[in-house]
Amino acid sequence: MIIGVLKEPSFEARVSLLPEAVSALIKQGNELWVEKGAGESAFASDDQYLQAGALLKSRTEIYDAQLLLCIHPPEEGFASLKSGTAVIGIFQPLYRTDLIQQWADSGITCFSLDMLPRTTRAQSMDVLSSQANIAGYKAVLLGAYTYGRYFPMLMTAAGSIAPAKLLVLGAGVAGLQAIATARRLGAVVEVFDTRPAVKEEVMSLGAKFVEVEGAADASKAGGYAVEQDEDFQQRQKQRIAESIAKADIVITTAQIPGKKAPQLITKEMLESMRAGSVIIDLAAASGGNTALTVNNSTVVHNGVTIIGNSNLPSTMSSDASKLYGKNLMNFIKLISAKDGSLFLNWEDDLVKGSCILFEGNITNERLKSSA
Ligand code: NAD
Repeated sequence: MIIGVLKEPSFEARVSLLPEAVSALIKQGNELWVEKGAGESAFASDDQYLQAGALLKSRTEIYDAQLLLCIHPPEEGFASLKSGTAVIGIFQPLYRTDLIQQWADSGITCFSLDMLPRTTRAQSMDVLSSQANIAGYKAVLLGAYTYGRYFPMLMTAAGSIAPAKLLVLGAGVAGLQAIATARRLGAVVEVFDTRPAVKEEVMSLGAKFVEVEGAADASKAGGYAVEQDEDFQQRQKQRIAESIAKADIVITTAQIPGKKAPQLITKEMLESMRAGSVIIDLAAASGGNTALTVNNSTVVHNGVTIIGNSNLPSTMSSDASKLYGKNLMNFIKLISAKDGSLFLNWEDDLVKGSCILFEGNITNERLKSSA
């Protein structure tokens, strides 16, 4: 199979495959084309791709590959792809139904890895997890860097410093990594999540789990969170308000696929925080968990800094690309026949879940029911 690696849009420093993964796919019998400059921001030069055995191509040339790999959808050109071309990336189709309809018209086959069911068998291909882990780690470092005080407790001859109080809203992959990283830096950590199942993991990381009873059961939502009713939201807000007034750093990660992120922190709550506190909102791209979050921007309100950034994995481009590439390689194995050609087993829930377009037809049940 001819596999093409696209250069990402200018806001993205990651690349979908690093040279080492390119070399592995060539050894499996594929031909690899890499768009010129694709790996530059992830510290992988064109020369390294050439040494790995790839051919360098322009954007127009690379569109002739049979399978295209990317992270974000290219800003232009997908509509001109040849019918039958297959594409793998993170396309957030539940938020971008208009774009998917345009691609359907060009007859392509499209896999969106953010649509994979969150099952044990999917773990090796789970890009949401590999990238969220990085986001959680980097969120804490960004918080520590922005916060004008210490994280750990210190007792020095010049006086004592109390440990920073960190609050995590949403203990999924990003939240759990944020807890672990903050604990290593010496912060005292409190955590909210609507899934009581996560309590044990939170406590094993040395953080306190604040339980709000009566959350909607998400166990049948394929591993994803579900929306909460009004009563629960009010009770949760009251408990968060108590914790947030004492918090120095807040990391928010709560998201519901295909929906606007729940607003967990109101303007009044923000105004109860002391000046110098910092919020890192990882749910910024889907609307944000605070009333004042602006995606890709930093807002300072009454001395509280609110950083809206859902693309932190891009700031660790090399490791993030390495892990993304490994996820891709495992996924390519799932959709390939022994001779290397594309082979889709429609009985497989991972194929059914991640394939959003097959030769121009919308195949995905979640996407169909959200349209
Ligand atoms: P996510 O990014 O979708 O959401 C982050 C967290 O926010 C979740 O833990 C969610 O429960 C929580 N949340 C949502 N609404 C909330 C609210 N109103 N208040 C407080 N918290 C709220 O999460 P994720 O990291 O992608 O993980 C989602 C699920 O997938 C989890 O159940 C996780 O265990 C599961 N998972 C499965 C696999 C796998 O087996 N392949 C891998 C990773 C995660």
